[in-house]
Amino acid sequence: MNLPTVLKVVEVASATDIGRVRDHNEDRALATPSLLAVADGMGGAQAGEVAAQIAIDHLDRLGKPADGAAVVEAIEEANEAIIEASASDPDKSGMGTTITAISPQDGHLRVAHVGDSRAYLWRDEALRQLTSDHSVVAELVRQGKITAEEAEDHPHRNVITRALGADARVAVDSGDQAGRDGDIVLICSDGLSAQVSDEAIAAVMRSEDDLQSVARILVEQANAAGGIDNVTVVLARLEMTEGEALASTTAELPAAGADKPRSRPRLSPVALSIAVLLALAIGGTAWLWSRAFMVQDGDGQVVVKRGIPLSVGGIPPRVTWQETGVDAARVNAVEPASLSDSARGRGEAVLLATRLAWQYGIGEAPIIPEPPRVDPAPVPPPDQAP
Ligand code: MG
Repeated sequence: MNLPTVLKVVEVASATDIGRVRDHNEDRALATPSLLAVADGMGGAQAGEVAAQIAIDHLDRLGKPADGAAVVEAIEEANEAIIEASASDPDKSGMGTTITAISPQDGHLRVAHVGDSRAYLWRDEALRQLTSDHSVVAELVRQGKITAEEAEDHPHRNVITRALGADARVAVDSGDQAGRDGDIVLICSDGLSAQVSDEAIAAVMRSEDDLQSVARILVEQANAAGGIDNVTVVLARLEMTEGEALASTTAELPAAGADKPRSRPRLSPVALSIAVLLALAIGGTAWLWSRAFMVQDGDGQVVVKRGIPLSVGGIPPRVTWQETGVDAARVNAVEPASLSDSARGRGEAVLLATRLAWQYGIGEAPIIPEPPRVDPAPVPPPDQAP
């Protein structure tokens, strides 16, 4: 029997590294013949990697080469899961992640992304970016306000304008690229693209044939350039080859409800009411703690503050999260409404301050370090309630 000739992923490779500055790696990746993805997580403590892992898990769950709509849907579901996880755990409030994924299906590359992790195509000895960054500097370049060269060492080049976990609705950019024999796709976190130029990436692609070597060398180059961020690279090579199209591995999932019935522990009505009240109080505090607001500080400067207005139960009142360098009197005279803008999460707070600083010609908002966290006490289990 003659098998048809089809375009298939014949080789995949990946590498990741913590870099030389960060104390843990919040990047996560997926490199299989049916799906390639990179997620660059952000958020205090260990929350960034939790968000990144949720995004990767949702894509991995597709389990087969998927069409563009299925990939976008998986990313939207990951966004909801991240928001739920961050609302239910104060340690994870404000966590988020980028996601960039490619599903090679029926000879096409289905690309979907949110944030600034990039997908590139290596074809005819040239490197082409398949995604456009959702970032402040990319936006400024698109508007012609700064040049691509100025963007490279712009102080806010790592401030992104879209992320999973930032909002209940997320706009996923998606596209489709017909694949060709010999194509190589590369997805990377900004730990590579902000440190190693496209020309330098192209030089490695040109000189190295083995994809695992390419991945390792690119990570080494990012570290050699300073390693200021986690760096992750995934690669895949496509070839026309005799055989069946990549099998749609339809592993049967157990039907919903097939789980063995489990008996639930019974709670007394009093214990239940106490547990509900505690959960509401903690949920409300966590929500307030996760928001940030633009306010005028004692020196008349606009600052972004986070937290609750009063000191409650050992939690300090609002702390300054981000300075702007902008005089509140100027904003009040021109656009007082913008002083009531609020942000959710560290990324949005930085973005608010950055926008205001640009608008009022300060040019660069001074970034202050993350303030120490004070989290509400954990909920006692109901059987210990009085
Ligand atoms: Mg990064």
